[in-house]
This record gives sequence, structure tokens and C-alpha cells, in this order.
Amino acid sequence: MRENDFHNAQRLIERDKACLWHPFTPMKQWLEGGEEPGRVIVAGEGFELIDARGRRFIDGFGSLWCNLHGHRVAEIDEAVRSQLNRIAHSTLLGHASPPSIELAERLVRLSPAGLEKVFYSDSGATAVEVALKMAYQFYRNRGQTNRRRFLALGQSYHGDTIGSVSLGGIDTFHSIFQPLLFPATFVDSPNPYHHPAGRRAGEVVLQQADEALAAAAGEYCAVIVEPLVQGAAGILTHPPGFLKGLRELTKKHDVLLIADEVATGFCATGRLFACEHEGVSPDLMCLGKRLTGGYLPVAATLATQEIFDAFYGEISEGRTFYHGHTFTGNALGCAAAVASIDRIESTGLVEKLPEKVRLVSRRLAELKDHPHVGDVRQCGLMIGIELVADRETKKPFNPLDRIGAKVCLAARKRGAIIRPLGDVVVLMPAPAMDHDTLDTLLTITIETIHEYFA
Ligand SMILES: *Cc1c(COP(=O)(O)O)cnc(C)c1O
Repeated sequence: MRENDFHNAQRLIERDKACLWHPFTPMKQWLEGGEEPGRVIVAGEGFELIDARGRRFIDGFGSLWCNLHGHRVAEIDEAVRSQLNRIAHSTLLGHASPPSIELAERLVRLSPAGLEKVFYSDSGATAVEVALKMAYQFYRNRGQTNRRRFLALGQSYHGDTIGSVSLGGIDTFHSIFQPLLFPATFVDSPNPYHHPAGRRAGEVVLQQADEALAAAAGEYCAVIVEPLVQGAAGILTHPPGFLKGLRELTKKHDVLLIADEVATGFCATGRLFACEHEGVSPDLMCLGKRLTGGYLPVAATLATQEIFDAFYGEISEGRTFYHGHTFTGNALGCAAAVASIDRIESTGLVEKLPEKVRLVSRRLAELKDHPHVGDVRQCGLMIGIELVADRETKKPFNPLDRIGAKVCLAARKRGAIIRPLGDVVVLMPAPAMDHDTLDTLLTITIETIHEYFA
């Protein structure tokens, strides 16, 4: 049995290597790698992933930040099956469908006040594209043709399409495409560990944004932000009050605020949405990742009535938003999302988050004095442990040594699948993860770091 499993796993990885090209993956290293633990995932159960050899791992990265209630959740499985008995997909272009209606109602009810309309797409990147195009056309439709600028934070990540990359600031991913991008204005990321102003980074960056918006008054469409924390940059947390400050600035300069809640939305920060922590209502909000509980690719861009109204008029007025994707509002995905929201409510998940967040903080404190841990960042259940060559000087490791990747591989051998961002070890447990599993995940991570540098 074990031998069969082994050959089966070997065979699968060989077939993979023959014809797949993996995302965000250096393919030479993939092809040269062996059948490492957890490489071929064949099943999941609760908060565990099961590989082709039957080994079980804690899903410590929420299957790339989208898992919410665990895997094979009975209610969500059933909702998808029951929708499958009716129809898998029908278009929203000129037609309507019950699951997309139900989900839109729920999103409007749950999201920050003022967001009244739901535009569907199928990934975080497309949700951002939609927001950018809406912001631009919003002003066009109101006769303000000079507005075409966008402002973003350094080291932002908003997805991988050309529009969303234009507002991205992660050099490793984005710099090569520079000649293809539309110009955008960047201000610093206000993370206190990385910004020279430290604790004052929030004020300094807000000032920078204020000056940039004032310098080209009447030319900006929107400011886009990952509220509270820049995920892909390495869980770069923002000082308290920064988001609120940005909301005030965008009001002062009369530009739209786009909250990209693709990573933070649906319980990751300790609340349903990150914007709630600072009582902020954005003009546009992008949702993806956990929207369907991590089951299917559905994303949404929520807009205010004011934005919607600017697109409303006679055909001859040319106000229509001509944008859409074939699988927009997919019925299976929307049914999964509705079931996921039902489960958030029926399990009282939001009320249970603070205790999980406290458990994480308590455990992470064990790493605070480690000589190779430069910074431990936490925003709810989004966790980044930054490994450095020297804690005192903050000197990083040589990126070519791939220390972060090696530590994560070592964690896999101890039974948890996690993924680094450079030398930041990232944990993104499903928000519904039980205390025991969460505690084990942290134990594995902490012990792996101690052992690696022993
Ligand atoms: C993951 C992510 C995206 C992109 O989502 P995809 O579904 O991968 O296109 C956009 N914004 C943020 C903040 C993200 O973390």
C-alpha cells in the first residue's frame, strides 16, 4: 500500500513536470526538485491537506489565503451539489440568476455602510481592474476628463493583470513589466519596521500622500490601499489610524478610495472586513479569496450609489460600464459564497475571532528575542515572521540563499504547509481553525525556526 502510494506520487509529479507551468514558480527548481512531502495534494479534510502518499499536513497558508472554514465543509459541499442539480453556470450579461442575487444582497448588508451595488468578476486581480476602470469612468461620465491618475502605496500588491500591476510595487514581481504599465504615483509603505520614521511612519506617509494629491489637484481618480496590512509585501502592517487618515485625505481632495480587501476580507484581520477596525467606508471595495470560503473563483467589486448613478442614463449618453467576464457571477461559486456566509453566521465565527487572535499573539511572543527574527507582525490571523541575518542591524539574509523557503520546507517535514514571502515566514490559517490546530501550527513554526538556526 505505502509502496503503491509512493509510485503513484512519483508518477503524478513526473506527469506534472512534463506539461505544467506553475504560477509564481521558478520552473528549473521545480523540475529539479523531487517528490517532496506535500507536493501533490490529492485531498483535504478540515484544516488538513492530504498528499498523494497519504501524509497529512496542517494547511498553514489557507491554501494561498483563501480557505475560511476548512476543507470539505458539509454545508458548502451540499450548496454546490444542490446548485449543480439546477445549473452550473449561466451568464449575467443581460440575464439574472438566483445565487448571484442572494449573494449580492448579503454582501450589501454585511459590507461597510454606503456600498450598495455589487459587480462580479472571477479573481482578485479582476476585482481590482473593475474598481480602477469604474473610478476612471466615474469621473469621465461626470465630465472630468482630466482625472486619470491613481495613487498607491509602495510595495502594494493588487493582482497580476496589467492594470493591477500598474498599481503594484513589489519589484521582484512587477519591475520587469514597467514599460507596459500606466503611470501611477507611489508613496511609501507606512510599516514601522521598514519605514525610517518608525512609529511616526503613518503621519509621514499621510503627509506625503496629501502633498501628492495637492500637487495634481483635479487629476486623481482614486487612492487604492490594502487596508491595515499589505499582505504580499510580507504582511506589512500599518500603524493604527492610517486607513482612517487616508479616508479623510481622499475626502479632502475629492478622490475615490478603493479598499482592496481581497486578502483581508472575511475574517482574516479579526473582523469581517479590515475597514471595520477604523470605521471606514470606502467608495469601492474589492473582494475575492475567502469570498466563497475558498471553494471557487468568484470576486466582487462593491460600489456606492453615487458611483452607480454616474453610469446611469440613456444609451445615447454613453454612460454604460462595458466590462465583464464570461464566468462573472458563476452560479456554483455564488452558491458556495452564500453557504460560506451562512456558516460564518451560524457558527458565530466573528465573535470567536478575538480569542484566536490572542492565542496567536501569545505564542508569537516566544519569538520576539530570537537572534534571527527581525520583526514579528500580526494583523488578526495574518502573520509574518521576518527572518534576518542580524536582528540588531536588521541586515537581511542574501535572498539567493532562500532562507525563508528552506525554513518553510523544514516546517513541512514537521507536518505543516506554509509558504514564505522572501524571508518572511507567513502563516495564514483559515479563520475558523480550531484552537488546538492553531496552537500546533504555531508550535511547528516556532520549533522549526529554533531548530533551523540551532
Ligand atoms: C491575492 C490578492 C489579489 C489578487 O487576487 P487573485 O485572485 O490572485 O487575482 C489582489 N489584491 C490583494 C490584496 C491580494 O492579496
